[in-house]
Amino acid sequence: MEISVRQGDSIWHYSQLFDIPANLIIDSNQSINPNQLSIGQTIVIPGFVTTTYKIQSGDTFWSIAQKRNLAIDALKLVNPTVNPTMLSIGQTINLPVRVTWRVVNGKEKYDYTKFQEDVRELLKIYPFLLAETIGTSVMGKNITELRVGKGSKRVHVNGSFHANEWITTPAIMSFLNDYLLSITNQGTLNSVNLESLYQTTMLSLVPMVNPDGVNLVLNGLPEQEPYRSEVLAWNNGSRDFSKWKANIRGVDLNNQFPAGWEIEKARKPNTPGPRDFPGTYPLSEPEAQAMANLTRTRDFKRVNAFHTQGQVIYYGFNDQEPPIAEVIANEYANVTGYQPVKTVDSYAGYKDWFIQEWRRPGYTVEFGRGLNPLPLSQFNEIARAARGIILASLYM
Ligand SMILES: [Zn+2]
Repeated sequence: MEISVRQGDSIWHYSQLFDIPANLIIDSNQSINPNQLSIGQTIVIPGFVTTTYKIQSGDTFWSIAQKRNLAIDALKLVNPTVNPTMLSIGQTINLPVRVTWRVVNGKEKYDYTKFQEDVRELLKIYPFLLAETIGTSVMGKNITELRVGKGSKRVHVNGSFHANEWITTPAIMSFLNDYLLSITNQGTLNSVNLESLYQTTMLSLVPMVNPDGVNLVLNGLPEQEPYRSEVLAWNNGSRDFSKWKANIRGVDLNNQFPAGWEIEKARKPNTPGPRDFPGTYPLSEPEAQAMANLTRTRDFKRVNAFHTQGQVIYYGFNDQEPPIAEVIANEYANVTGYQPVKTVDSYAGYKDWFIQEWRRPGYTVEFGRGLNPLPLSQFNEIARAARGIILASLYM
């Protein structure tokens, strides 16, 4: 919600007026000097939207504010041209409305368009949330990173490395929405106070690493050549792409990282296909490159790659993980009921590369149980487990 600065206004006055932490208002207005507002300047108040209201007989600013649990000055602020002593019946005024509802539904077919729509909506209501394009997919879709929090402890979470595991994207987006709701409504999530985590941590999310693949699984063949003919051939002529894990060039993005890549290269398919092909060289694909570049830039303390299925938490790689990795894995297990597993005969994954290069905790979490793609009937359970793990990753 945008307001216009009046004589004598301050960030701290707005904070009290709307009951929104001052630091969130400051972070939502990066270009301003919070100690020196100028009259007429536009300020965004996060966690609020405006609606309109038609004045009825007997209404006063006092009665309207009273009914909606608002300060009278909040009404004056969003109606700078209205004279409160001269209201007329039928006149339209603005009302500030605190956002207490979710924007992200989550439990629905979640393709690239839906994802981008939810990102736009969240950015509008919560401008202290930051979005950055960290690369583009083979077909030119933006790969989006979302960041929240001002702290030095940087935690990363990604989803949909594998196309038919797309349910991980709305699980991450639902968590983000609950986090934003919680800090703008002085609430807690699983009794964790997110206002203090906002100060001490920075959460980096790449909810959809493989947007072309997700759209292929959910929406079917793309129009654009050569991808249309190629994926159809690699899928043996079938238009059912529900088993597709790879990107649009038939490369398995979680077999692309330079951490034992040669081992996978020797034993996995050597041509493009729905799954497992490691590519012709490590990080050959733009989606994998974007993730590698982001990880090199951000200096993450720990990373979490969300996959389906199996209800397992993988936390080791070649004994290169630090001892704390197992402690954190056990906490993930406590909050989800999932099984912590140190190693498995697998290489060239994102978390493998992270552990190898930084010797810090990295996790592959396999959510849910059954055959991929998991049905939406598992969404609530997966979102609950994802929430537990992301929170643990922040507070541990
Ligand atoms: Zn996977």
